[in-house]
Amino acid sequence: MPALDPALEPVFDAVIARNPGEPEFHQAVKEVFESLAPVVRKHPEYMNAAIMERLVEPERQLIFRVPWVDDAGDVRLNRGFRVQFNSTLGPYKGGLRFHPSVNLGIIKFLGFEQTFKNALTGMPIGGGKGGADFDPKGKSDAEIMRFCQSYMTELSRHIGEYTDVPAGDIGVGGRELGYLFGQYKRLTNRYESGVLTGKGIGWGGSLVRTEATGYGTVFFVDEMLQRHGETLEGKRVVASGSGNVARYAIEKAHQLGATVVACSDSGGYVVDERGIDLELLIDIKERRRGRVFDYADEKGGSVRHITGGQIWDVPCDIALPCATQNELDERGAAALVTNGTRIVAEGANMPTTPDGVAVLRAGGVLFAPAKAVNAGGVATSALEMQQNASRDSWSFEHTEERLADIMRGIHDRVLDTADAYGVPDDYVAGANIAGVTQVADAMLALGVI
Ligand code: NDP
Repeated sequence: MPALDPALEPVFDAVIARNPGEPEFHQAVKEVFESLAPVVRKHPEYMNAAIMERLVEPERQLIFRVPWVDDAGDVRLNRGFRVQFNSTLGPYKGGLRFHPSVNLGIIKFLGFEQTFKNALTGMPIGGGKGGADFDPKGKSDAEIMRFCQSYMTELSRHIGEYTDVPAGDIGVGGRELGYLFGQYKRLTNRYESGVLTGKGIGWGGSLVRTEATGYGTVFFVDEMLQRHGETLEGKRVVASGSGNVARYAIEKAHQLGATVVACSDSGGYVVDERGIDLELLIDIKERRRGRVFDYADEKGGSVRHITGGQIWDVPCDIALPCATQNELDERGAAALVTNGTRIVAEGANMPTTPDGVAVLRAGGVLFAPAKAVNAGGVATSALEMQQNASRDSWSFEHTEERLADIMRGIHDRVLDTADAYGVPDDYVAGANIAGVTQVADAMLALGVI
């Protein structure tokens, strides 16, 4: 890993001192700062205006109590969060995560990353993230609804189409967004479509939003391959996770001629050499809320389910970590290098540990980071906001075409920036520098606020 520029060391030390017990946030800041030595040299005006100090300090952090009543009539309690990280480029924009692991540090890391990801899309959106330490697993629909209503009762005071526009993330899909939007509408007496994205198609949503993060991930990989005169045709792919991002990455990879042979959930992974049957996977995971081992049970034959172990042991040309942060470590990276994997592209947010990234790079794997690769989700959210503002709805084909254009634009901008700053072909540095400089220039223009 490149050393931090001496000018950034005290800023990073202050991040650690001021945000104790938040290792994911420290990791995300460090990973961005490691790319910024050429930026510090080229832009002394950023340091003079304390831009770096301001970039790592969220504009606002909200923590609130979320009480709700379960089906047995007992009162339950969770903690809700919304971190409004940076609104320089537009209203705060970023998803809500419902998972027992959620804490302030995780939401801060996600909000920080989101700020630069959103800048890379070229759309007018700032960065934010939220969620709760609520576990949707095993809850009835009625419990999910009561939780969402209680969560939104507080959140509604802080969001709005010109202020902060949440969307889904881990544990928050169409069902949860429906309950959240319903409660917002009831509380405010306003049909404010632009307050949330990822809405259902029948009530203000955009076609392609559900598929966008996974599709965008594969469009990005396609651009990486095309640059080397190749395509996805005939490639063997492994995608971790089996949620929103993984499912539609699998779908698009299959459409472009690749075979995705393995996917996973927190209980293990499945290997299906004929290619993951997406219809069955969605039926099990979404409609029946089952596990990937049900997939292996139902398919039978040569389909294997492995508990324990790591999905990265499955040989592949392209690996797409699409589950959660720090799921691909040094050991996983070493297995990928040994098996001759050519490309690792992050569908999830920060799924590769710093040691994992180092092993991949040393092994000659082409590595592309989340803030560029998975930006298609939020970019399509911005397209949803455009449609809501103009009371219009676009066709699937038109919206998908826009998404593909946006991903091509991000890919090229990342590589052009890497070139311009003397780090050619470095997707990590290119993405970090392009995102940071865009936000930093706008912050300078807006003054000390
Ligand atoms: P989902 O909740 O739809 O799916 C998450 C998947 O990851 C599930 O298969 C889940 O398994 C698995 N998973 C979650 N936590 C763990 C864990 N600790 N260990 C192993 N597996 C785990 O979420 P999404 O697909 O929406 O999000 C996945 C990633 O993509 C996240 O990092 C998210 O921040 C990122 N992302 C999502 C976007 C979106 O539009 N949805 C946009 C940009 C980024 P199980 O069912 O067992 O929990």
